Amino acid sequence: MGDRPYRVAVVGSGPAGFYAVGALLACEEPRFEVDLIERLPTPWGLVRLGVAPDHPNIKAVSRAFEKIARAPGFRFLGNVEVGRDIRHQELVDHYAAVVYAFGAQTDRRLGIPGEDLPGCWPATAFVAWYNGHPDFQGLEFDLSHERAVVIGNGNVALDVARMLALTPEELEPTDTTDAAIEAINAAGVEEILVLGRRGPVQAAWTPVEVGELGELAGADVLVDASDLRLDAASERELEAAAPTVKRNIEHLRDYAARPPLGKPRAIRLRFLVSPVAVLGDGKVEAIELVRNELVDGRAVPTGEREIVPCGVVFRSVGYRGTPLDDVPFDPESCTVPNSGGRVLADGGEPVPGLYCAGWIKRGPTGVIGTNKKDATETVALLLEDARSGVLAHGSDASVVDGLLGARGVRVVTQEGWEAIDLAERSAGEPRGRPRLKLGEWESLLAAAGLDGAPR
Ligand code: NAP
Repeated sequence: MGDRPYRVAVVGSGPAGFYAVGALLACEEPRFEVDLIERLPTPWGLVRLGVAPDHPNIKAVSRAFEKIARAPGFRFLGNVEVGRDIRHQELVDHYAAVVYAFGAQTDRRLGIPGEDLPGCWPATAFVAWYNGHPDFQGLEFDLSHERAVVIGNGNVALDVARMLALTPEELEPTDTTDAAIEAINAAGVEEILVLGRRGPVQAAWTPVEVGELGELAGADVLVDASDLRLDAASERELEAAAPTVKRNIEHLRDYAARPPLGKPRAIRLRFLVSPVAVLGDGKVEAIELVRNELVDGRAVPTGEREIVPCGVVFRSVGYRGTPLDDVPFDPESCTVPNSGGRVLADGGEPVPGLYCAGWIKRGPTGVIGTNKKDATETVALLLEDARSGVLAHGSDASVVDGLLGARGVRVVTQEGWEAIDLAERSAGEPRGRPRLKLGEWESLLAAAGLDGAPR
C-alpha cells in the first residue's frame, strides 16, 4: 500500500462533509489528505446558514468542525464551485476519490395556484436571509400585515414561526443579521399561523422545538383543543409512537389548556388543513385552505374550505436536492443514487472512486448528528475500496491549485476563512453578540484577504 496518502476531494462543507473529512483524516492506514471544496467563502453549511440564530447550542457543533480542520492533511478550498470553477471529471481525474456532500440546495413546492405571487416565499429563503447567506441578502420580506402563514409541521416551520415571534431582547444576543433584526422588530405581524396538513400525532417536528414555543417572551401559543381530538387511528398511532411524539402531544395539550397572556404576538398551530391557493392581486392577500381528514394516515381533502387573510406565506414543506454537473442523480428521490454511500451508475453498479454523504445521499431528513453516522458509513466503504486497490492515489495538490489559479479562481483557504471568522467575531464582541456576519460576497472575500476584481 505504501506511505503515499490518498488525496480525496469532499464537496460541500456542511455537517456531512465535515464528518466525512473527520473520518478520513482519523484513518492511519491508509492515510488520506482531503481538500474540502465549498461553493461559498465560508464553511459549515446549514450550521452557519440554516440553524436558527437563537439556537447557539446547536451551532456550537462548529467547534468539532474547527477541530477537524486543524488535522494534518486538511485543506479548505472555499469560493470554488464544482461545475463552474472545476468540473466533476477534473475531480475524478485528479483525486483518488470524490465524496459529494452538497446537501439539498432548494425547496419543495406546493404546486398550487398563486404560489409564485410576491409575498409567498420558500421558508429556506427566509432562513438563508436572516442567517446572512450572501446569495439572499437582497431579498425584502414585507412583514407589515398582521398575519403571516407558515405551511408545514417540521422543525424549519417552527424555526420560521419562532424567529418571527422573537422580541428585540431575544434577537439581540444572536448572530441574526442586522437587517433581519430590524425587519422582525418593526414587523406588524400579530399572528403567525402554522398549518399542518395532517394531525398533531403525524407532525414531523421534535419536542424540544415544540416546547420552547411556550417560553417565548413575546408570543402566546394558541392551539384549539378541538384540533387535538384524535380519530381512532391516530389514537392507536400515538399509543404505539416513540416517546418524542408523546411529548409533542403533551406540549400541545398544555398549550390548548393555557389561557393566552395577551403577548404582542401569537403563534397559532392548526392541523388537518391544506392550502389550495394563495390569493391576491399582484401580491399575497389571503390563503385558501381546505379541511382534511386522515385516511390510512394520508391527508384527504373534504369539501370544507375557508379563506384566511394574510400578507406573507412561507412554505416550509421540506428541502429538495438538485443535480450537479455530470454526477448521477435520481430525479424521483432528488438524491444521488447510491448504495451505503457508493455512487451508482445508471446500470446500478458502483462508480469506482465516487461517493456521497448527507442529504444528497439520503434526502433532507434527520438532525445534524445523523450525518456523522451517515458520513462514517460512506467513508468505511471508501476505505474498503482503498484497501482493496480500487482507488488510484490522485494527483499532487499543485495540479488542482494550478487549474484553479489559471482560471483566476480566488480560493478562500482555511487561513482565509479564519480571517473572516475573526473579523466577524471581533465585530460582534463589543455588542455582546457571537459574531456580526459579513453578508456580501465581496466583503467576505476581502476579509479573507482576496481583494481584487470579481471574475
Ligand atoms: P420535514 O421535517 O420533512 O417537514 C416537512 C413538513 O412539511 C411535514 O410536516 C410535511 O407533512 C409537510 N408537507 C410536505 N408537503 C406538504 C404539502 N404539500 N402541504 C402541506 N404540508 C406539507 O422538513 P423540514 O422542516 O424542512 O426539516 C428538514 C430536516 O431538518 C428535518 O429532519 C428536521 O428535523 C431538521 N431540522 C432540525 C432542526 C432542529 O433540530 N432544531 C431545525 C430545523 C430543521 P407530511 O408529514 O404530511 O408530509
